[in-house]
Amino acid sequence: MKLTVSLIKADVGSIGGHTRPSERMLDYVEQAVSDAIDNGILRDGYVSHTGDDIAILMTHTYGKNHETIHQFAWDTFKQAGEIAAEQGLYGAGQDLLADAPSGNVRGAGPGVAEIDVAYGDDVTDRPVESFLMFAADKCGPGLFNLPLFLGCADPMFCSGLMLPKMRAGFSFNIIDMENTKGRSTLMLHAPEDYYKATVLLRDNERFGISEIYSRAYDCQVASVSAQRLHAIAGKYVGKDDPVALVRTQSTFPAPEELLSPYMIAHYVGGDARGSHVMPVMPVAINTPVSGAYCMPILSCLAFSLDHNGYFADEPVDMFDNPVWDYVRERAQKKAFEIRQQGWSGPAMLPHSELEYSGFNDAICSLVEQFKLHKDS
Ligand code: 13P
Ligand code: MG
Ligand code: MG
Repeated sequence: MKLTVSLIKADVGSIGGHTRPSERMLDYVEQAVSDAIDNGILRDGYVSHTGDDIAILMTHTYGKNHETIHQFAWDTFKQAGEIAAEQGLYGAGQDLLADAPSGNVRGAGPGVAEIDVAYGDDVTDRPVESFLMFAADKCGPGLFNLPLFLGCADPMFCSGLMLPKMRAGFSFNIIDMENTKGRSTLMLHAPEDYYKATVLLRDNERFGISEIYSRAYDCQVASVSAQRLHAIAGKYVGKDDPVALVRTQSTFPAPEELLSPYMIAHYVGGDARGSHVMPVMPVAINTPVSGAYCMPILSCLAFSLDHNGYFADEPVDMFDNPVWDYVRERAQKKAFEIRQQGWSGPAMLPHSELEYSGFNDAICSLVEQFKLHKDS
């Protein structure tokens, strides 16, 4: 049977700044998902928030990019945004950039990650399905470039790559997020294209891993909501705050192989006004953004899925573990160190990437006041 896992997220309003959605908004979304399960639109669903972004995880049989599912998510976010407006919350409806999506919310603001899981067909030695759901806040989709690449292409992090079943490696579909003419992608194959991939993936603001495929089984392993809101809207309307789905175990990387790169607490673009360079802090699901700096945060839930599309009763919160306290402390220290130099040099994103157009306007109006001295 063909099952699809769809993860759609949006920021449609939050309390007291970019912190977290309200309980009333979350209750509404949970009820809508439960009704959609009762009505047979969805098989199963799970609602969570990471910072100010609400993520709706769904299983269904419609396939990827299906109007029914995308419209359901859009309508649900729209209503939640209206609740936010009624409550006077910050950024009500922020990520709903189009008036109405044309059957697909991709490119309309919400982030989308989707994978078709053809149970029993696509990978014959995969009797059960398990996957990780990632959701990030206060950062761009390039956040996943380094950890996903290390977790799926580098035996220093994923020792499973040394085994005969995984040795064929994985293919990385890389998207040029700056190309506003349409979806522009390049497929590179690890191991042979490893170095080429790093040339692109080093640039987190422009290039992002969009999908990963198993070369041994010719099926999709991962999906990332790789898009730049500013490329869609033409101006800053909030950071992109990506989500990702990654199938795990058996012939795919194990959760620990995918999570170990997050020990690095690597620096990414994001943070306050989407304009700083700050480390990624792993957090428990449903964590508000309330600490100093508005740091990039990342949550991760592990799910099991049965053959009828139902999740095991509860997911495992992968970052809600004392092991990650050590990384959280390191991330906070790394954040403190770079923030000591405030606005200087690499602590903030370069001119072209500064997300608030006000920054650019301020620079341009000063540049116009410069005087060229021909006689010196
Ligand atoms: P969000 O994209 O999460 O709304 O955050 C935007 C921002 O600029 C925070 O300072
Ligand atoms: Mg926000
Ligand atoms: Mg957000």
